[in-house]
Amino acid sequence: MDGQKLWANSGDSHATGETQRWNEILPKDIAERMPRSVKDPDGEYETVYVDGKSFRRKLPKLATKTDASGKTIIDLVSERGAASLEERLRDLDQEGVWAEVVYASLGLWESMLRDPEMVKTVARLQNEWLASEVAAKSGHRLVPTGSVPLLDIDDAVAEVQHAADVGLKLVSVPTGLPEGLPDLNQDHWEPLWSACEETGMVLGFHIGSDGGDEGPVRFRGPGGAILNYVETTYGGQRVATKLISSGALDRHPDLKVLVSEGGATWVPFLGDRMNEAYRQHGMFVRPALSQLPKEILYRQVYTTFQHDESAPAAMWAMGYRNLMWGSDYPHIEGTFGHTQKTLHELFDDLDPEVSHRIRIGTFEELFPHVSEPPEQA
Ligand code: MN
Repeated sequence: MDGQKLWANSGDSHATGETQRWNEILPKDIAERMPRSVKDPDGEYETVYVDGKSFRRKLPKLATKTDASGKTIIDLVSERGAASLEERLRDLDQEGVWAEVVYASLGLWESMLRDPEMVKTVARLQNEWLASEVAAKSGHRLVPTGSVPLLDIDDAVAEVQHAADVGLKLVSVPTGLPEGLPDLNQDHWEPLWSACEETGMVLGFHIGSDGGDEGPVRFRGPGGAILNYVETTYGGQRVATKLISSGALDRHPDLKVLVSEGGATWVPFLGDRMNEAYRQHGMFVRPALSQLPKEILYRQVYTTFQHDESAPAAMWAMGYRNLMWGSDYPHIEGTFGHTQKTLHELFDDLDPEVSHRIRIGTFEELFPHVSEPPEQA
């Protein structure tokens, strides 16, 4: 295997150039209200503007650390994200990534928008653009996440149906909902789960989209960088717990959930923990489930990891099969620039069946419309 290109599909990557896209596809008065980031000249802080509101956040230290050429790491990251579809596919070919799920970047702040009519318009126009200009033009190697206007449940249901009609295969929902909306374990969302199940729409949750005023920095002082990074993963685990314990996934056995960038080894752990609660606290548990929580979790929740050396063992040692690899392109936590090294380190010594499942098979199960990578052709 050494030296040979190892292809993989990725369950986690991000869009670039969203501001330009919004200017092109949205009416001018709406485009101006979409999220945008303005960095201070010294690069220490940025101001994020969303629909007349703004907040300032300190950029990670990376922003001021420079390489030999004097460029900050933030500069390097924003430069390396491909500006066009052609460039992006060239990056994927070079890295050995065949197909990938593409989440928003700045668009992750869309959940701060509070105008139901605007959110509805944005979702509709953006989803049409993603289907025709990204999914179709990439030959379906890119699997973009559609937007859902969550502020009105009828709008949300209608847009999932529309997104499916135009050819999208998954929608993105934040792990933390905008203030004032019912939590994801509430029956309020039942029509949305039904719409996704009926249309075969995968529900994608990207970690770190918990919202709230704290932003990504919750801890300061010793250990802060690691504390804050690890903290972002818990939102995905909470979503999975909510959707299972509330019976949502039990009532919708064909509904599939993707939790991106949160690793995979938490799944066996969480399954055991939920089973223990279900059995030992059975007298308090509502609603009853038709199967143990862990069985539902293993069946309907899919996960991605990028570097985790112990993730493959979640499959072969703990029986969880719905994990896939993810590049997190073009982010700095991701594997861009060293994807082949990472893939070889993770998979060269594995049973070929396990390797194939994690690199390619799981993704194909979730997105059967995607073609085979070259080595399988
Ligand atoms: Mn990511």
